[in-house]
Parts: sequence; C-alpha cells; structure tokens
Amino acid sequence: MNKGILIVISGPSGAGKGTICKEVLKRDPSLCLSVSATTRKPRSGEKEGVNYYFLDKAEFEEMIKNDQFLEWAEVYGNYYGTPKSYVEEKLKEGREVILEIDIQGAMKAREKFPDGVFIFIVPPSMDELEKRIKGRATETDEEIKLRFSKAFSELKYITKYDYIVVNDAVSEAAQKVLAIITAEKCKVERNLDLYLRLENV
Ligand code: 5GP
Repeated sequence: MNKGILIVISGPSGAGKGTICKEVLKRDPSLCLSVSATTRKPRSGEKEGVNYYFLDKAEFEEMIKNDQFLEWAEVYGNYYGTPKSYVEEKLKEGREVILEIDIQGAMKAREKFPDGVFIFIVPPSMDELEKRIKGRATETDEEIKLRFSKAFSELKYITKYDYIVVNDAVSEAAQKVLAIITAEKCKVERNLDLYLRLENV
C-alpha cells in the first residue's frame, strides 16, 4: 500500500487557510486533518480536541522535550505544534493528512517531509487581507497590527512552496486544493508499485 501524502496548507494570517481547510474536508471526508496543540487561550466557540488541544506552557514544553511534535513554532507569543503520532499513523494507513500551520512550521515540516505537498494560500490583495484580519474582531488593535505586518513580510516565502492558491472565493480555492491533491496522487513517483504490478502480469 502507498503511504499517504502530507499536505501542508500555509500562508499569512487572515488569508483564509482555516476556512479553505474546512471546505476541503467537507468535500472529501477521506482526508484527515491534524489537530494542533497550542498554548493560546480558546476563543469563544472553540472546542478542545476539535480546534486545538489547549495546553499550558509547561505541558507544551514537556511535549517538545519528549520529541512529540512533527514541528512546532512560536506564533504571536504562543506556542503551536503538530503532534507527531496522529500524522505518522494516518500516513502509514495510506491516508492523506492536512496540516494547517504557519510558515515557520511549514519550513520545518519541509525538512522532515521533502515529498510533502506545500500549498501557499494568499488573499486576493493586501487591502482585502487587512479587512479580513480586522473583521475577525478576535484580536486587539495591537495584535491586528502585528499580524498584518507579519503577513507582509511572510509573502517572500512563496517561492519555497509547490503551489499557490488565491483565496478570492472559498469554493474555488477549495476546488483548487482538491485538484492539487488529486494530481499529486497520480504522480508517477508516488505510483511506482502500480507500474511494477502491471509489468509483472
Ligand atoms: P490562530 O491563533 O489564529 O488559531 O493561529 C495562528 C497561526 O498559527 C495561524 O497562522 C495558524 O495556521 C498557525 N498554526 C496553527 N496550528 C499550528 C501548528 O501546529 N504549527 C504551526 N507552526 N503553526 C500553527
């Protein structure tokens, strides 16, 4: 059986990664979404084990010490990390696993999974990005400013990714992500066992 593919969806804050991931998973429930751990406080409506595993700093640092993260990063003063065991288990079962993570984390995941698929989500314009960050109203003015200036400086990482998807309309962006996953599954180098099987008949 082929190993599953690690799909990393990343990009600046406010680009709409979360919304796209939700739509992608709705359309293809065979995909697995990795739930991250974080030391950030839950926002209203967020659920433990669904949106994140909410940990305190000591618990998170214990997981770092025990090498339980595939990658982790400090984002806006909080820790965020991808627990390793879930991802490894699902990939071994041949399932595709989606990580929705920030750019620093994506660069670390790239080192461990060079054959992963790295998708950069961008907003249609920086004006639109600013509107979206402000529109969320979950952050203070200070945090909004920080997220916007960080988003600007993060754009230069685009060239480190395999694909770029503009999030103009969520439905189209999700469709593009699904098309990328389908194309990646059909790549020759991911299907060499199929070739060998056909040749042996
Ligand atoms: P938020 O606080 O808005 O939920 O997330 C802040 C940022 O952290 C987002 O860019 C989000 O993609 C990123 N993030 C969420 N989970 C992880 C993770 O496990 N690892 C890393 N490196 N970033 C993450």
